[in-house]
Amino acid sequence: MKKCGAPRPTPGANMSSSRKDKDAPEGSWTCPECNNLNYPFLTVCNRKGCSYSKPTPTNN
Ligand SMILES: [Zn+2]
Repeated sequence: MKKCGAPRPTPGANMSSSRKDKDAPEGSWTCPECNNLNYPFLTVCNRKGCSYSKPTPTNN
């Protein structure tokens, strides 16, 4: 008696969702002072009157 014990691959388990939630590119950071979303290349907060320095991680 022949039985089929091969597991079926489950489609849909690995969906490629690469859409962004917001208009900001990857690496953007949020200012802890005013919650303003800044671009990755900004070293200080973009918000007028804030100028909060970007919190840099220890690893370089
Ligand atoms: Zn700010």
